[in-house]
Amino acid sequence: MKFGGTSVGSAQRMKDVAGLITREKGNVVVLSAMSGTTNALLEIASYYKKGNRDSAVDTASRLEQKYLGHIAELYASAESADAARDYVRSVFSYIEALGKEIFTDASEKELVARGEMLSTWMVNAYLQEQGVNSVLLPALDFMKKDEQGEPDSRYIKEHFAKALAQHPGADVYITQGFICRDAHGAVDNLKRGGSDYTASLLGAAALAEEIQIWTDIDGMHNNDPRVVPGTRPVRHLHFEEAAELGYFGAKILHPTCIQPAKFAGVPVRLLNTMDPSAPGTVINNIPDPGSIKAVAAKDNITAIKIKSSRMLLAHGFLRKVFEIFESYRTSIDMICTSEVGVSMTIDDTSNLSGIVADLRRYGSVTVDTGMCIVCVVGDMDWENVGFEARAMDAMSNIPVRMVSYGGSNYNISFLVREEDKEKALKALSAKLFADD
Ligand code: ADP
Ligand code: ASP
Ligand code: MG
Repeated sequence: MKFGGTSVGSAQRMKDVAGLITREKGNVVVLSAMSGTTNALLEIASYYKKGNRDSAVDTASRLEQKYLGHIAELYASAESADAARDYVRSVFSYIEALGKEIFTDASEKELVARGEMLSTWMVNAYLQEQGVNSVLLPALDFMKKDEQGEPDSRYIKEHFAKALAQHPGADVYITQGFICRDAHGAVDNLKRGGSDYTASLLGAAALAEEIQIWTDIDGMHNNDPRVVPGTRPVRHLHFEEAAELGYFGAKILHPTCIQPAKFAGVPVRLLNTMDPSAPGTVINNIPDPGSIKAVAAKDNITAIKIKSSRMLLAHGFLRKVFEIFESYRTSIDMICTSEVGVSMTIDDTSNLSGIVADLRRYGSVTVDTGMCIVCVVGDMDWENVGFEARAMDAMSNIPVRMVSYGGSNYNISFLVREEDKEKALKALSAKLFADD
């Protein structure tokens, strides 16, 4: 069970989480830092880096005060509150001590790791105060990266099993999301939002019955309820469908985060802390033949078209085009080609002028800004018939700049003007979910 920063964002939220995780015995719980903490710690680190110790200490002591406030609210007994205050003070004096030495990237990693250490310590102590046999498993004992900087799944599997075996029969196991060690044993992390990744890695390592990602708002809808009225939560997604949708709400579940679960065949369930009895959304490897799951949209898309007579019957043309994007570290999302031209979309336009200038060497270039990708996700195996026609039919009154189909078995995407987004989402929903 993984809970994000907002879900453990206050003493009351921590108490709610404590209730959820003790409904059954033996859960492994991955927690993020309390919301705002990681950002505050990174701010402190940036002050230290700039040699601005005063601002660092100032920000740190404001954060410490916040924690002392949470403690006053969280624990019932003076004894537990005292122990928690001691712990919080030791963490913050460590943070201050870090600034007294040369502040390196390694110091920053140590510093930012304190966020998850604080939240897990507090919840574990709260559970123990409530009489729960809760065990705090330090993630740094088993979460490790390899020489390539990728999570070392074999190491994780072996050491996580060892850590669990040291405390058989506990009611609940609490551990830190996000933090890990690098291949040389130094403290590191799995990048922002990395707690989801921790949960997926541990669930896969332990071959858990299920990986639950608890968040603070409603499960995934087949559309944004503010744009299309009458949407319903999607109850089931294939891993591939979730990956397709990841681009449209990458904040929810990044595709790389669920990769370990997918490979291990462990289902992932998205649940809502605000409505804990709702069934949520299950993601697994089971297909729903012929079923269309969701329609999603992403704004702020720029389309770039390059037309060149040199492309006709030439080989190596696309490579040259793609290399230009690569040299500007800009990823391409949608792509369509004809015999003489190719259109691509990007969402990061910070290097647009350089890209366009370089592309002009190979042909005439057109740029359309203010575009929007509207995508339909579901089982769209090419041998199924009819769904392309239904989707196209829905778009019959909307100017469509690009259509992309066949890249995977799970997606058909349209590029339209941003101002047509709402119309497109409504039309597709009406046509595709008409009989649901
Ligand atoms: P936090 O960011 O507080 O650690 P989570 O990791 O649980 O919380 O969630 C990450 C972000 O994704 C949060 O801002 C959350 O509100 C947002 N989010 C979660 N589920 C959805 C959803 N179904 N649709 C849109 N945003 C979501
Ligand atoms: N605390 C980390 C972050 O804010 C990791 C996480 O919340 O998933 O990015
Ligand atoms: Mg998060």
